[in-house]
Parts: sequence; C-alpha cells; structure tokens
Amino acid sequence: MTDYSISAWIVRDLPLAQGVSALASAGFASVELSADQCPLVQEWERDPVGLCTRLEGAGLTVPSIHCPQPGRFLDAADENARLDAVVANLRYLERMALCGVDEIVIHPTGAGGGADVAPEDSRARTLLSLQTLAARAGELGLRLAVENIGFKPGRPDSDMASLLTIIDGLGDHVGLCLDIGHTEIAGLDMVEELTIGLESGKLFTLHLHDVLPSGKDHVIPGEGRVDFTPFLAALNAAKFSGGRTLEIAPGKGDVAARLAQVSDVKRCWEVHQL
Ligand SMILES: [Zn+2]
Repeated sequence: MTDYSISAWIVRDLPLAQGVSALASAGFASVELSADQCPLVQEWERDPVGLCTRLEGAGLTVPSIHCPQPGRFLDAADENARLDAVVANLRYLERMALCGVDEIVIHPTGAGGGADVAPEDSRARTLLSLQTLAARAGELGLRLAVENIGFKPGRPDSDMASLLTIIDGLGDHVGLCLDIGHTEIAGLDMVEELTIGLESGKLFTLHLHDVLPSGKDHVIPGEGRVDFTPFLAALNAAKFSGGRTLEIAPGKGDVAARLAQVSDVKRCWEVHQL
C-alpha cells in the first residue's frame, strides 16, 4: 500500500517526547525531518543515530530529511555566504550517512537579492553549489532531491523543466522534489509538472499540502483551493513509487487534532489509492 509520510514541521511546538508520540499515535509510519526549530530536528542534529533509533522504537522510519535553514542560500552572491550554505548541507550529509537516512530535500535558491539579480547568475551559483553537494552525496551513497520553491514562472527554481536543466549531468543520485503547493502558487498546472517530473525519471519525492485562497500554503488538504483528485489519479496511474510527504505547517489549534485531520487525509488517499 502507498505510504504517506508526515513532515516533522507539524510538531515543531511540542517537546521531543510528545512530538514523537504524537506522530506515532496519529498513525504515521514515516517522517521527513524538517524545520530547524523542531525538537526532533534539533535532537537529530545533536545525535542522529540516537534520534533515528528512538523513532524506530516508536514505529517511525526516516526516509528523508529537509535541508537546514542555513543551507538555503546556495545561490548567494556573496561567496562566503554561499560557501556557508554549502557547508551546512554537507554537515547534514555526514549525519545522514551515520544514521542511514538516504535522501535530502534541497532548496536550490533562497538568497533573494531582488529584481536586479539576473536569473542566469543565480542559476550558475546554485549549480556550483549543487556540484559540491552532489559529489559528496555520491561518495556517501545518498540522494539529493532538488525542490521547486520559486513562485515566479520563468525563475530557475520554479518548475520541473528548469530544475532538470540545472541538475543535468550531476548523476543518477540527484533528482527532484515536486512541491505541489509551490506549483499552485506559481500558477502552474500540477499535473503537467508531475508529468514532466515522471517522464524525466528524476522525480524522487513529493511535498503535498493545500493552499488557501489567500495564498497561505502548507495547510491540510481539503482546507484550501487545490483539487487533489486529478493529481493523485495521475500519480497512481503512473504507479509512482517515490516519497509522498504531507508537509503541513503547525497551525493555531491543538496539534493532536490537526494531526488527526492529516491522518484522515492519509487514510483516505491510501484506501482509495487517491
Ligand atoms: Zn516543500
């Protein structure tokens, strides 16, 4: 049966023990470690093997991890800032190798810099950074999944085709993460983006969440404006076997109640293969 992971982001505001048990008791079997402020991520940074062992004891595997906040400036124009971002990700790769987490989701851009930054310059710096990361990931037997995070069509980070040109030649262990909420905000067709990703053979994983009419993203599927049916039908028709992470932000209400709501979505999608 298809398995849907949950991003650890949703338990960011819970202490470690409560966060672990909340995820497990909501019925999840796998978690993507994500959000620097989340106690699960902070504990993993301190003791990667210990945290993964603890999660395993609670019935949770860790198929992937999200790049850390300091690692999200791979396109920085300032060379020292760019290298700092590369190093932050390299440190994660070393920890991943220690505890057997095989895949990291990478943000290719994030330095911003305003309208005067030419897309081709940003792209060139991202490529330089990814070359370093891809080389080390290859040595360690790890995968990089580069995520679409740009909301402006035409930017090098906003769609699957552009990201494919950036990762071209970096190796079979370098692929894509399709974040469908970001695709929605960019005004792109998510089934078309999925098709490009699938046909490339490079689509490693998915970030799934809804978007409110206001544009606020990372809400629970069903809360927002996204019609998931055609996307999930295309996904299942293609028998997609990569990762599927429900990437939901911590909301205002009770965490357990929100987790139960996400868990209902997971069960519904799994049972109906939707
Ligand atoms: Zn994402």
